[in-house]
Amino acid sequence: MYAFNYQRPADVSAAASAAVADTDSRFLAGGQSLVQAMKLRLSQPSALIDLSGVAALAGITVTADTVSIGAMTRHDQVARSAEVARAIPALAALAGGIGDPMIRNAGTLGGSLAHADPAACYPSAIVGLGATVRTDRRSIPGDQFFTGLFETALAAGELITAVDFPIPKQAAYVKFKHPASRFAMVGVFVSQSASGVRVGVTGVRSHAFRWTAAETALAGNFTAKALDGLKLDATGLNADLHASAEYRAAMVATMTRRAVTEATGG
Ligand SMILES: Cc1cc2nc3c(=O)[nH]c(=O)nc-3n(C[C@H](O)[C@H](O)[C@H](O)COP(=O)(O)OP(=O)(O)OC[C@H]3O[C@@H](n4cnc5c(N)ncnc54)[C@H](O)[C@@H]3O)c2cc1C
Repeated sequence: MYAFNYQRPADVSAAASAAVADTDSRFLAGGQSLVQAMKLRLSQPSALIDLSGVAALAGITVTADTVSIGAMTRHDQVARSAEVARAIPALAALAGGIGDPMIRNAGTLGGSLAHADPAACYPSAIVGLGATVRTDRRSIPGDQFFTGLFETALAAGELITAVDFPIPKQAAYVKFKHPASRFAMVGVFVSQSASGVRVGVTGVRSHAFRWTAAETALAGNFTAKALDGLKLDATGLNADLHASAEYRAAMVATMTRRAVTEATGG
């Protein structure tokens, strides 16, 4: 590790100002990705702005139609929240399936979204529920948040403060997980709400995306049967030693069927 400055602000405005004052700094959430990147010298920030002292960034609020989760809320808090489990059980289950207990106790929603790992679970829920990412300066529609491999719509020094997840009628998240890390080799979040059906996919391209052909098929008939014969084109999909592009394409169809079956209580 190399030398860097460290600050632990107590509120959002101090954290945001610190990031603007030093454009080579990075926010530190749970450190689950950032500290590893620093150890490998893939990231060499001049300063870390530790968000753990900003109480306003952590917590869960549930209203009649929205679950709002602060950026510093740990995965384990989401997984264990009775309110989240009542409002969007699929979201609590998603959080409970991330990594292992240590990762869930340290990892945060904001860190996961800002890091934008192509195999992370939460991005599928961001697009699969049509969530809104709130920052210290604006609200970003979930469909516009992920822009590329480890890339987001965030500007330099922009701080995620919370995410608003609309409560659907029914939803489910199913992933085909990497056996060691439990990251999604293929993860699918489906939801049905008054505004329609959404199918959010992660682990398959550079960033999470909506499988619109499946959404169209499910719009009038929210059953696994409606997906019969539907395939995702394998062109350009992620391929590695764990799964080829063709295998991932096939698994997207399978995981989507399973997610719909689970969402409908089948
Ligand atoms: C072994 C292992 C297994 C894992 N398995 C899974 C899995 O199964 N599924 C899954 O989805 N994830 C998985 N993860 C990812 C993990 O759950 C964390 O979400 C992820 O590593 C981000 O960590 P963090 O929250 O500690 O953020 P940090 O590492 O602290 O930060 C990550 C990045 O986000 C930035 N950042 C942090 N907070 C904010 C904010 N509020 N606003 C703006 N920028 C911010 C930081 O500056 C940094 O660039 C795994 C990680 C590990 C190491």
